[in-house]
Amino acid sequence: MANFNISAEQRQLVEEVRALALRQIAPAVGMLDEADDGRFNDGPFRALAEHNLLTPTVPQEYGGRGLGYFSTALALEELGAVCAGVATVVTANIHAASPIILAGSAGQRGTYLPPLAYAEPCLAAFALTEPEAGSDITSIATTAACNKGLWTINGVKEFVINGGLARFTTLFATTDKEDKRAGLVAFIVPYDVQGLKVGTVHNKMGIRCVRTARLILDKVIVPDELVIGPRGSAYLLLMQTFDRGRALAGAVGVGLARAAFEFALQYSKHRQQFGRPVFAQQAVSFVLAELAARIESARLLVWKACWLIDNDLDYTMASSMAKIAGSQVAQEAAAAAMDICGGRGYLKDLPVEKYLRDARVLSLIEGTNNIQKAVIASLL
Ligand SMILES: Cc1cc2nc3c(=O)[nH]c(=O)nc-3n(C[C@H](O)[C@H](O)[C@H](O)COP(=O)(O)OP(=O)(O)OC[C@H]3O[C@@H](n4cnc5c(N)ncnc54)[C@H](O)[C@@H]3O)c2cc1C
Repeated sequence: MANFNISAEQRQLVEEVRALALRQIAPAVGMLDEADDGRFNDGPFRALAEHNLLTPTVPQEYGGRGLGYFSTALALEELGAVCAGVATVVTANIHAASPIILAGSAGQRGTYLPPLAYAEPCLAAFALTEPEAGSDITSIATTAACNKGLWTINGVKEFVINGGLARFTTLFATTDKEDKRAGLVAFIVPYDVQGLKVGTVHNKMGIRCVRTARLILDKVIVPDELVIGPRGSAYLLLMQTFDRGRALAGAVGVGLARAAFEFALQYSKHRQQFGRPVFAQQAVSFVLAELAARIESARLLVWKACWLIDNDLDYTMASSMAKIAGSQVAQEAAAAAMDICGGRGYLKDLPVEKYLRDARVLSLIEGTNNIQKAVIASLL
């Protein structure tokens, strides 16, 4: 039975992540946002790794915290409130680990999960998107062919978070040009494999601390032992991974929305115009009241989706709803915060313009919000 009580353990987790984020990540957020293509600052990820929070879903038997999705969402809301980029890197690590946790062999789990729980930061990547295959993943052109237990992979992957930094990449390719869905195969591609090259590192509007790059696979050879799950199961595995990740993307959005809301609320109570705080104007306070309600409803959708995941119930629709709600409220709160802060909101002196830039990506990643609507519509 669902309830809205967060356990004492979960409350402690929230306090731990909040304190860590405020102490070790918040002071660096401005500098991280200035990052250009060439630099990558692993400071926040080092801090998270020291707390075993870089991939919190890694099961305890592999050294991880073994957090369920509900608890992970609570942690991601806290991180998202301080820096959506840092939180997004955590979701990328979770994404990369998910297929291994769900369907990996004992050998794969034993080799690739423990490093994600080391105190040293270990980044992982998830590579599906291609230059000509975005929303339509059945059009992927990366090929995989097996000969005597060795797979040769050729293709280009686009927009890969942690691309070029990851210890391993969970990557999808197809064996069948006619039926790419049935021919889909999931691989673990180690960072040091021959033929794996890093292409363009993308220069982005927001979440600038996140390294996002093109990966080129030129006759990459991996052994059969690095195929994840039984043959023919990769499409299902991919959908399960997405369905889980989407709820967490929603949690990042809720965190960002909360931060923008709280900033705007404080600002509006201090900023005096016409002899009183601008919060005294209903035009301002009603916007904040509306936001408070929308943030809470997005949070409840995230919690519901995560609760369904943790209880192994049907979570597909709830997860897509949580992703839409979290990403939308993040953008609405950031835009409203900028209006409420007036001209100052537009300056780099306040965090609001970063909230707006960071929020924008949330409706694009993990499948665009149109794709979430298509998922929901297909289940109505
Ligand atoms: C910062 C960032 C990080 C990312 N990280 C990763 C990553 O780590 N790994 C990875 O594999 N991918 C990653 N992506 C890729 C991301 O998942 C894709 O950008 C996304 O799935 C959309 O694909 P696309 O950009 O090719 O858009 P397109 O598929 O070309 O879509 C263009 C527009 O058409 C709409 N559209 C397309 N098809 C439909 C449809 N059937 N119904 C309604 N509308 C439709 C879309 O909603 C969108 O508005 C990342 C993207 C970004 C921007």
